[in-house]
Amino acid sequence: MQKDKPPKTLFQTALIQATLVLTLWGYSASSIEANTSALHVVFDDQFGVSEQPYVDRLKQEDALPMLLAFINDTVPFAQTLTLRIGADDGPLFDPATNEIWVPGEFLVEINQRFVNADLANTKQERNDVMLDVFTHTLLHEIAHAIIAQHNIPILGKEEDAADNLANVLILEYFENGDSLARNAANMFALEDEDTDTYYSEDFWDEHSLDIQRYFTTLCHIYGAQPEDNEDLIDAGELSEEKADSCIDEYGQISSDWLSVLDALHERQ
Ligand SMILES: [Zn+2]
Repeated sequence: MQKDKPPKTLFQTALIQATLVLTLWGYSASSIEANTSALHVVFDDQFGVSEQPYVDRLKQEDALPMLLAFINDTVPFAQTLTLRIGADDGPLFDPATNEIWVPGEFLVEINQRFVNADLANTKQERNDVMLDVFTHTLLHEIAHAIIAQHNIPILGKEEDAADNLANVLILEYFENGDSLARNAANMFALEDEDTDTYYSEDFWDEHSLDIQRYFTTLCHIYGAQPEDNEDLIDAGELSEEKADSCIDEYGQISSDWLSVLDALHERQ
């Protein structure tokens, strides 16, 4: 089966300079000091030469402490959760150890995909897309963690529910959430370009297809803020009819996930 590719025009218009430092509301690096974090980060001792610059970026900037502070304030954890950067596998959440694994290779891969697609030409742009995609990925794994820790009922594919939480948190709490989510969507589209033909395993995979995750993310971006994202209709990424339905779809998933988070906060 041949797949449809998203029009290139979207990639050209969607290259975003979203810096995480500027996008989180009201969080400073110092706020994490006073936070009794349930989520904390551990870096491996050794990284490959190509990985080190991206790991350094995560270590040196305020972005990661701010992101952790935001997550710890927003997401109630039942048990301590470790974000392990430099793991051998992943990105993944391991319920046996309560660890989220992000390999250094993943940070390199984000960079390479956007550079190869001519979507990140400066060091700043490469850092920005890395932080954006890392953020979406981390929030997706956070969803798996709280689903497991709190035994949250999932009425559908857990992978879709995890994408939904990542989109809701980004679109509701980040000042430049639209642009951040667009970079996350573009990562799915770039991953989709690896595949020319679909096989059975693509359809029985626990994840939706990359191209579906791309369009669903765009749908949520539009649904969260239609007036700011008319270009998605103009570029043909969403039809008028689909875009209309995205307002209801996003309203449903954002209301449901935020209600779940509220209920978990009240329980603690
Ligand atoms: Zn997942």
